[in-house]
Amino acid sequence: MRRYSAFAIVREGLKHHMGWERAWRSPEPKARYDAIIVGAGGHGLATAYYLGKNFGITNVAILEKGWLGGGNTGRNTTIIRSNYLQDPSAAIYEKSRSLYETLSQELNYNVMFSPRGVMMLAQTEHEVRGYKRTAFANAIQGVKTEFVGPERVKALCPILNIHGPRYPVLGALWQARAGTARHDAVAWGYARACSEMGMDIIQQCEVTGIRQEGGRVTGVDTTKGEIGCDKLALVVAGHSGRLAEMAGFRLPIESVPLQALVSEPIKPCMDVVVMANTVHGYMSQSDKGEMVIGGGTDGYNAYTQRGSFQHVEETVRALVETFPIIGRLKMLRQWGGIVDMTGDRSPILSKTPVGGIYANCGWGTGGFKAIPGSGWAMAELIAKDAPGTLASHFGLDRFRAGRFIDESVAAGVAH
Ligand SMILES: Cc1cc2nc3c(=O)[nH]c(=O)nc-3n(C[C@H](O)[C@H](O)[C@H](O)COP(=O)(O)OP(=O)(O)OC[C@H]3O[C@@H](n4cnc5c(N)ncnc54)[C@H](O)[C@@H]3O)c2cc1C
Repeated sequence: MRRYSAFAIVREGLKHHMGWERAWRSPEPKARYDAIIVGAGGHGLATAYYLGKNFGITNVAILEKGWLGGGNTGRNTTIIRSNYLQDPSAAIYEKSRSLYETLSQELNYNVMFSPRGVMMLAQTEHEVRGYKRTAFANAIQGVKTEFVGPERVKALCPILNIHGPRYPVLGALWQARAGTARHDAVAWGYARACSEMGMDIIQQCEVTGIRQEGGRVTGVDTTKGEIGCDKLALVVAGHSGRLAEMAGFRLPIESVPLQALVSEPIKPCMDVVVMANTVHGYMSQSDKGEMVIGGGTDGYNAYTQRGSFQHVEETVRALVETFPIIGRLKMLRQWGGIVDMTGDRSPILSKTPVGGIYANCGWGTGGFKAIPGSGWAMAELIAKDAPGTLASHFGLDRFRAGRFIDESVAAGVAH
């Protein structure tokens, strides 16, 4: 495949842009693969990419029931950070954040990683204590964060009302190298690289059944027929429970809607990401000028990619009191995704009760930031049939043994 470069843009410009190749092939499925990955979201595609790159396994199919990146990967608010409290979480999220730093060069695809800085506001004494604790933990973990006071918060984001009507801003947990990236581009970049390695990305191909013999996976039934495999990775976020049911086991996952909305575009007014978890809303400004807004999950389980109206109202109310200048903005679009929540708000990267089947799920409201790190760790788990250092704490057995990785403060609502 031809490399993308400034030279290529000039060359194609002279040819009326008629010479660009398709970014990935759309083949029909083969009868058998070494590994099948269900779900062409960011996590599935990154898993495939690192299987090829780190382990030389390229006889791989990625099966997607819709279009690639059409699940939560193309629906999120793109926040990337690694300021988690527990050591295993800080390790995998920081690995991921550091991979994002050079992902555009690695994939030869501009994922528009923008390390503009993320601040999580502390608006109660409890939050001040919690975020100071996280900053100390991050210092030991090698994750660069700091707790900053209200004056610094105001200097970093002048449009913030730090004397809010309900809760004043008492400080913030600030991660300067955190930020955002273009979510579709992350999926497209990985897809292009996978296709270049000879992997088959098969869209409009829903997995409807999982075949097993003697407690081991042998293949899958799909809307495009039966496909055999030696190894099978379930990387389907909010649909994980349904796929596990097909394989005959249960996962400790609940699927809930999470929604986001964007405003009409306005001139640049905010060059950091702000999360206000007490009043419950967060906001950043996209390169197009739209204010990108998110809030919390619905309080009930569902498989609808919509979310309830009451959450839109609560989120907008929270943000208007935090950023009074957005009070007269019009909202352009609203959408939802189905997120996969575990009880401890930490992910699952694990072998399962069926030989050759691996699960990658439970990223809940915050898995976009984890895509490169998760793919890296998941590829190792599949290739070696055993978790490496990054994945070792995130096995399913932790729920039986009570070894929870409690990230409900860092991950429950904030992204
Ligand atoms: C509104 C919203 C805002 C968010 N904001 C952030 C944020 O700011 N930062 C952050 O880090 N995270 C955020 N997240 C979370 C993040 O988007 C997800 O954790 C992440 O994208 C999950 O990626 P994935 O690849 O696991 O899943 P997905 O992208 O959902 O991919 C799974 C794929 O599996 C496919 N699939 C399902 N069932 C089958 C089947 N039977 N056969 C074949 N294919 C199937 C689906 O069609 C889907 O494409 C947000 C999520 C939402 C919904």
